[in-house]
Amino acid sequence: MSIDFSNDYSAPIVTTSLTPQDDGEVSLRPKFLSDYTGQEKAKQNLSVYIEAAKRRQESLDHVLLYGPPGLGKTTLAGVIANEMGTNIRVTSGPAIEKAGDLAALLTNLSDGDVLFIDEIHRLNRAVEEILYPAMEDYSIDIIVGKGPSANSIRLDLPRFTLIGATTRAGQLSSPLRDRFGVQLRLELYTQDELARIIRRSASLLSIEIDSDGAAEMASRSRGTPRIANRILRRVRDFAQVEYDGVITREAADHALQRMEIDQLGLDAVDRRMLTAIIQNYGGGPVGLETLAATIGEEAVTLEDVYEPYLMQIGFLARTPRGRCATPLAYAHLGIESPQTQMEF
Ligand code: ADP
Repeated sequence: MSIDFSNDYSAPIVTTSLTPQDDGEVSLRPKFLSDYTGQEKAKQNLSVYIEAAKRRQESLDHVLLYGPPGLGKTTLAGVIANEMGTNIRVTSGPAIEKAGDLAALLTNLSDGDVLFIDEIHRLNRAVEEILYPAMEDYSIDIIVGKGPSANSIRLDLPRFTLIGATTRAGQLSSPLRDRFGVQLRLELYTQDELARIIRRSASLLSIEIDSDGAAEMASRSRGTPRIANRILRRVRDFAQVEYDGVITREAADHALQRMEIDQLGLDAVDRRMLTAIIQNYGGGPVGLETLAATIGEEAVTLEDVYEPYLMQIGFLARTPRGRCATPLAYAHLGIESPQTQMEF
């Protein structure tokens, strides 16, 4: 059993396996590019870089993966290590507190190893500065001793590959960002891709599902595999107790309604957020912090988790003066839009 340290800073700073997250008893993470669904553009480029590095018998250049949570950044890091046939060490920005922690981590790597740092935008400055020479020249300078007798020693590092993941590429300092030779942005998944992921996960979990049932869940998973897998597990419970164990469209729809996930995959927080913009702020613009305080959520959660999908389906617009609800959001919530009123 591996350890999920994502929110527990007292846990070890490194593990050799990927964090289980929603995976529970069976790992649903694809292991190779061939079973990693979607992200075609990123995959096509990656497979060329991997093949080229293997032919030259070199380590892969450093890779930065960015995009909203749950889209498969951690999974892809594992896939890259498997495709390269190397080991992966997994850690996260907030878990590395001191420069010495990172130095210890780096000096324990072997040639070709992948070091995966999740939430890399949360590395502190002193730690980040160790990374620059490590990434560029595969060496670090460490200070031995104190005061006038202190000495700086240069240590050579193995030729490792750093894979950084972040939901906020914009918060990365440019010296750090520039040192990643490969930068890949992960996109929200299409319904077809999500249906494929759901069918694959269902077969790994030995759940019976028909294609309408998979399509129904896919259209309500907000473009995000992590949500699709979570919904699948919960719908399985309803299907087993109330629908003879088979996930049909009817079973999926019933379960999703009971979970308060609507036809477009919006949950209670999405609806609270849009309703607050419309009813408290006349449709917007309203600043993110104000909106977050109004509905009692963290601003970063709204920005990272909720907004990407609401913007993708055209329900929310970000303007320099704040967030606005669009006429589509009004229509979905059954509230008359001021623009419609003006037209009549
Ligand atoms: P992130 O690191 O971006 O937050 P993860 O890599 O932890 O996301 O992915 C969340 C879950 O979604 C994983 O448990 C994995 O099973 C599933 N998943 C992600 N991407 C894919 C994919 N392309 N194909 C199949 N399953 C995926």
